[in-house]
Amino acid sequence: MVAQPVQTIPGALAFIAANVAGVRRRIAAAAERSNRDPASITLIAVSKTVAPELCAAAVAAGVADLGENRVQEGVAKAAALAAGGIHPTWHLIGNLQTNKVKAALGTFRAIHSVDSLALAAAIDRRAVSPVACLLEVNVAGEASKAGFAPDEVVAALREIAPLNHVRVRGLMTVAPLAADPETVRPVFRQLRTLAGSLGLAELSMGMTGDFEVAIEEGATMVRVGRAIFGARPEPHHG
Ligand SMILES: *Cc1c(COP(=O)(O)O)cnc(C)c1O
Repeated sequence: MVAQPVQTIPGALAFIAANVAGVRRRIAAAAERSNRDPASITLIAVSKTVAPELCAAAVAAGVADLGENRVQEGVAKAAALAAGGIHPTWHLIGNLQTNKVKAALGTFRAIHSVDSLALAAAIDRRAVSPVACLLEVNVAGEASKAGFAPDEVVAALREIAPLNHVRVRGLMTVAPLAADPETVRPVFRQLRTLAGSLGLAELSMGMTGDFEVAIEEGATMVRVGRAIFGARPEPHHG
């Protein structure tokens, strides 16, 4: 595939810039409520399904970090942006198959979705330098979700510790869908407690529906898609 240079679209730029400003205000307010420095919270704009032009608009609006959940989509978008001289930090936040690790390592600076020892081992084998990783934890024990159970994390860290190329920086979770984000506060609190007990600094938690509660509970990275780019198309069924 030949990457096309990215042109920013003026209308999209204004729409996304306003959304980014709104999200930043909400991050600052949540940080203030919990006596935290807003600068200690990284906003990752989740650009899955979003066109490269709109990713570029987010970067133009001051977002330095973009998150993608699929390797090929992220690699293609990173190439398109790079062709336009735009170089955000890319985070992989979705399931990573071991056979796609090599492709992922060329683009993504951090992998938030390390959900098995087999994946950690594959990253270690393929990487040529240390890779920033977060262990995904299925705090609520949902059958539909990937991740280590909370009581598996200590043993996982022990197994991963000898791997030269895997640097576990923290923990990540996707909270259950909830109409009222207050109902998932205990999920975020449990992840923070777990990370604290293990001496892990980074907490990747909080999405459009719940990022303020996540910040109040200690999130250092929030992954926000729809509040920045607007609603995504419904997944296609059938
Ligand atoms: C899609 C996605 C997000 C962002 O979700 P929004 O509701 O659009 O903010 C965050 N984290 C993960 C793992 C995702 O897949």
